[in-house]
Amino acid sequence: MPDKPIALTNWAGNHTYAARELHRPRSLDELRRLAAGAGSLRVLGTRHTFTDIGDARALVALDELPGAGEVVVDADASTVTVGAAVTYAQLAARLDAAGLALANMASLPHIAVVGAVGTATHGSGDALGNLATAVRAIELVTSGGEVVRIADGSPDLAGAVVHLGALGVVTRLTLAVIPAYTLCQRVYVRMEWDALEAGFDQIMGAGYSVSVFHRLGARVREVWVKSTPEESDRMELFGAAPALSQRHPVPGADPLNCTAQLGVPGPWSQRLPHFQAGFRPSAGAEIQSEWFVARQHATAALTALRQLAGTLRPLILVCELRSVAADELWLSPSHGRDSVALHFTWRRDRQAVPAACALVERALAPFAARTHWGKLFTAQAAEIAPHYPRLAEFARLRERLDPRRAFVNPWLERTLAV
Ligand SMILES: Cc1cc2nc3c(=O)[nH]c(=O)nc-3n(C[C@H](O)[C@H](O)[C@H](O)COP(=O)(O)OP(=O)(O)OC[C@H]3O[C@@H](n4cnc5c(N)ncnc54)[C@H](O)[C@@H]3O)c2cc1C
Repeated sequence: MPDKPIALTNWAGNHTYAARELHRPRSLDELRRLAAGAGSLRVLGTRHTFTDIGDARALVALDELPGAGEVVVDADASTVTVGAAVTYAQLAARLDAAGLALANMASLPHIAVVGAVGTATHGSGDALGNLATAVRAIELVTSGGEVVRIADGSPDLAGAVVHLGALGVVTRLTLAVIPAYTLCQRVYVRMEWDALEAGFDQIMGAGYSVSVFHRLGARVREVWVKSTPEESDRMELFGAAPALSQRHPVPGADPLNCTAQLGVPGPWSQRLPHFQAGFRPSAGAEIQSEWFVARQHATAALTALRQLAGTLRPLILVCELRSVAADELWLSPSHGRDSVALHFTWRRDRQAVPAACALVERALAPFAARTHWGKLFTAQAAEIAPHYPRLAEFARLRERLDPRRAFVNPWLERTLAV
């Protein structure tokens, strides 16, 4: 294998992989031999992260692995099992056909289920956990070449689900499913910050899933409410008026890329994501960051961010605020606390964005903010560790499953030092 980098970047184009090898195993045995022999290995997912989290000397893509595209519905058990290459768009199509659904989705269906779950990707909803909370079993190939299945009932499951790629090559996940449901999406425009603060709980609870978009400007730009047809009609929301045409969260971007709004009922899978499968999500040339604070700190954290508006606004394409229910997953940013997620879509300025992240991290430090693992941040292990009470257990699980440290990459060393 030549000693030069494979020519590959992440989706946003702000990270170029330093990896020297890209493998595409065609059988489980081939994957097991690869995992057992590699000195430094990571799985290449759908590349929608914004850092070197998924980089290593060797990468493995699982699209040619038998079963990687499989979706197996077990209606009696209310579960679905997916292979490593299945995206949420593919999974949703199969669940829709079976009259089933996931409780939640992220803003886009383009990402692989396994990669998304591994970084605790989330949508929004006061009562809805992140996407990893749906996992009932995980199957992986360790750096010893063994196939390990960790399922409901195992004390390891809560540690293995948000794995950050550090435990092995995940080949299958089993997720909980629920009966299919219908949602309508309405966008409300121009809300005063005072109204958001005063009505925060009612606004975030105005539907099944609610997102607040802003640019740290004079007022909130838009509130996107995804609700059941029965609860969907409102003349106004805390002073914000219903939009009369389809919107895109990023100013100036094409609203046709977004899922249908204006209160038109549709399947859960075509209303929960903001962006339609088959269309470009978000802006493209961008970098994303996100921090989670306990819900009771939401408005104080927003006030702290608004004080930085003068410095941050030139870099901001759009910001989003979402709610995520508490869970027990060891490395989940909403571990043990109902949370709000404070998201930034930045201009793709590789020099200025890290400095902006450091500024945001300082402003949010009083609120014990936790970072989104898949996005850009500057905090390092010493600052991050105190926020994760089960981190030592995760370190032990990693040591047990990967004693050779084949899946430990520079990102993991500087972020968690496990
Ligand atoms: C336009 C856009 C919108 C987004 N919207 C949201 C959102 O709404 N909510 C949110 O929370 N995040 C969002 N994100 C962030 C992103 O979706 C997640 O962080 C997610 O992890 C991306 O998964 P991936 O497989 O594409 O990433 P990758 O970078 O390919 O993989 C992520 C990590 O998982 C590991 N991994 C992947 N597959 C496996 C496997 N089979 N076994 C072991 N390890 C594996 C990789 O090695 C890497 O370490 C968005 C990103 C973009 C670009």
